[in-house]
Amino acid sequence: MDQLSQVREKIDIVSLISEFIPLKKFGRNFSTVCPFHKEKSPSFVVSPERQIWHCFGCNRGGDCFSFLMQYENIEFPEALRMLAKRAGVELKRFKYDDGIASQKEKIYTINRQALEFYHYVLTKHPVGVKALSYLLEERKINDAVLKTFMLGFAPSSGNALVNYLISKKGYAKEELVNAGLATQKGRMVVDFFAHRILFPLFDHRDNVVGFSGRVMDNSSLAKYVNTRETLVYHKGSVFFGLNIAKNEIKKDNRAIIMEGELDVISSFQTGVANVVAVKGTALTENQVSLISRFAKEVSLCFDQDNAGQEAIKRSLPILEKNGLTTTIIVIPNGKDPDESVKENPGVFKKAVKEAVGAYDFLISKALSLFDKKTAEGKKKISDELLPFIANIENEIVKEHYLKKLANELDTSFESINKQVDRIIKKISDKPIILQTKEKRLREEVLEEYLVALLLQGSDVKDVIKKVSKILSGFSLSVSSLQRIFNDLSVFLDQYEFDRQKFEKTLPTELLSSYDVCYLLPLPVFSQDKYKNEVERVANELKVLYLKNKIRQIGEKIKTKEKNQADISDEDVELKELEKEFSVLVSKLAPNQ
Ligand code: ATP
Ligand code: MN
Repeated sequence: MDQLSQVREKIDIVSLISEFIPLKKFGRNFSTVCPFHKEKSPSFVVSPERQIWHCFGCNRGGDCFSFLMQYENIEFPEALRMLAKRAGVELKRFKYDDGIASQKEKIYTINRQALEFYHYVLTKHPVGVKALSYLLEERKINDAVLKTFMLGFAPSSGNALVNYLISKKGYAKEELVNAGLATQKGRMVVDFFAHRILFPLFDHRDNVVGFSGRVMDNSSLAKYVNTRETLVYHKGSVFFGLNIAKNEIKKDNRAIIMEGELDVISSFQTGVANVVAVKGTALTENQVSLISRFAKEVSLCFDQDNAGQEAIKRSLPILEKNGLTTTIIVIPNGKDPDESVKENPGVFKKAVKEAVGAYDFLISKALSLFDKKTAEGKKKISDELLPFIANIENEIVKEHYLKKLANELDTSFESINKQVDRIIKKISDKPIILQTKEKRLREEVLEEYLVALLLQGSDVKDVIKKVSKILSGFSLSVSSLQRIFNDLSVFLDQYEFDRQKFEKTLPTELLSSYDVCYLLPLPVFSQDKYKNEVERVANELKVLYLKNKIRQIGEKIKTKEKNQADISDEDVELKELEKEFSVLVSKLAPNQ
């Protein structure tokens, strides 16, 4: 057996997926709300028998490998390594043939060594003494926290890291440049970071993806510089601190998002540990979908300045779209969380506890800016707020805030609602970029349902005969379903129904269609009701096929008539078509 099958054999897909998302028993299968697209009712199904998963909402599916790759956003070799470890299978001679994956792995390794180097310089080397005392004394970070976040210092010499990694660790210049740790300068390669305090950036799986470097004194240089884009570092797709905070975030079901590294560190040190930093201003889609895996509530704790307040407004619609509840932490004592903690940790903690709903926050903000007594003020307040409130997904929550606003402005709920309709119209006039669910024809949906009923049923021998009779002369429009249907009929002519035996007869190209039908969640039927349901579906399909055929023939007749200026009675073909047409129409009659 090859290593892959060994791993697959030993991994139970249900317990694997359960570790990431809660699964509920559903008949022979398990189901839950899909982690890969936004939905309210569960269409994500996992089969313990087939060891597969499939989502009927977004049509993704596969085995344990593809689940982990998509869920953790990793390449195949990494998924294999993680699952092999879990299964206790030793991967011998496994080489990273996959170019991109191996390059990423290499960057993680180099970054890790750079981190050790920088941390050593900060904590142990004389060159780091000034930086260390800045962090310990001025920023009041303690030794343990320094280590938790693995802070470092890049010396000013300009080539300390490059020299170390090349001469002591044997890396090539090019590898350092690819990792973003060094820059090509003419024929030389020099350190990317010089004379800066370094905050390592980890992804949530503890890979070192890059660094952000802060100047130490008020020099004229940019206060913060981040690793430039590399294969593993993409601006706007990581959070500073998530690797450390993720368990606390999961436990609290709430993530506090701050602007800067030092805000997170101070907060962590004072005991509020479910914190991460965006490092910049507004949240990106990538960040929101990442954080939504760990918590349902996000508390924004941005700076009290204008930029911070604007960032709240830009982040809120993205959070709403991803189904997260958003609250705002208002800091009363200082410009940012770091200052607040230093000024008075008790006040900071109280503010964290008393986070207010994002919409309540925006409403009171707008009310404080404009005069709600005048018509002009009412307009300004509603113009400011309604675009946000119109976006609220939950109708009850939306109505709550609309009523609140109507109340505050002393206007009718109807007027507010009318204004919302206008806003929504404006929004929906814009082209829709993302069509979430592909539209399928009614017959495609029914065909899948029919084949699912057959595959998941028991005692299907008689039932399938009946279906064949009803649908004789027609074939299912989805060819893979038609082929499964045929194969099943042939199989049942020879054998008793045995799903596993049948599966083995199927060609591989039909397996994914088969899996979908096999997993499709079905209502529970008594055997009688089951037979009725199958017949009902077959009959409905028959009607659809008939109608399609009638439409086609009708069109043929029409074009024929159009193309012939004077229709002779002799046109045999036309006659045939008309005959066929009336036969089909009579078949549609209710008692047929
Ligand atoms: P500190 O707390 O580090 O003394 P600060 O509170 O003044 O500084 P801000 O200027 O408000 O920090 O910046 C907040 C965060 O935004 C920083 O921690 C950093 O992550 C990010 N940031 C600031 N300036 C830059 C920059 N020039 N490039 C990239 N990111 C930056
Ligand atoms: Mn600060």
